[in-house]
Amino acid sequence: MTIIRSRGAAVLLGAASWTAAEYALHRVLMHELRGRGMASVEHLKHHADVTYFSPASKKVASAAATTALAYPTTAALAGRRWAGAFTVGLLSMYFGYEVAHRRIHTQPPRDRYGRWARRNHLHHHFGEPMRNFGVTSPVWDKAFGTYDDPGVVTVPRRMAPVWLLDETGAVNAEFADDYLATGARHAESSQVDPDRLDAFTNVAPAP
Ligand SMILES: [Zn+2]
Ligand SMILES: [Zn+2]
Repeated sequence: MTIIRSRGAAVLLGAASWTAAEYALHRVLMHELRGRGMASVEHLKHHADVTYFSPASKKVASAAATTALAYPTTAALAGRRWAGAFTVGLLSMYFGYEVAHRRIHTQPPRDRYGRWARRNHLHHHFGEPMRNFGVTSPVWDKAFGTYDDPGVVTVPRRMAPVWLLDETGAVNAEFADDYLATGARHAESSQVDPDRLDAFTNVAPAP
């Protein structure tokens, strides 16, 4: 009990709690609500157009909402010092998740974890939007039975991350075991509405 009551443990528990929050918020608040509420709209807009990320002001608002929920609850249970450390751990991982998610879409992987994180999240985008809700960890998907091994991920070229394709639109050789690319590189304007409809009904985009 003494160890758990330490501030170091509180930071670690806060960080671990983020991974559960990441899963629950992404699954329920963003996908299952299908565009009801700001978090869902913002997230499904990102599914319709993977270059869209919520503005910083909305992220700060959601960090504030997370704090407003986490701090008083933990303070009531374990005191203000412990709750402060827990909230620091929680918000640090929240920030880490934001950075990791942005990098998945914009930067090539640098190690095994980065390679897994990209295949896992791009499978969520382009294969099964109602699977693989965890972005930084597969733990909660495995616990709740929503984990798919991403396998070879098929990516529509119009939505492909910049790091995936070469100038001819072929998958870069180093990623050829992990990804297939389909369709035209530049989206027709007629594709905008179907992509939005698919995103807001949790259907994978047309290839
Ligand atoms: Zn994403
Ligand atoms: Zn999603």
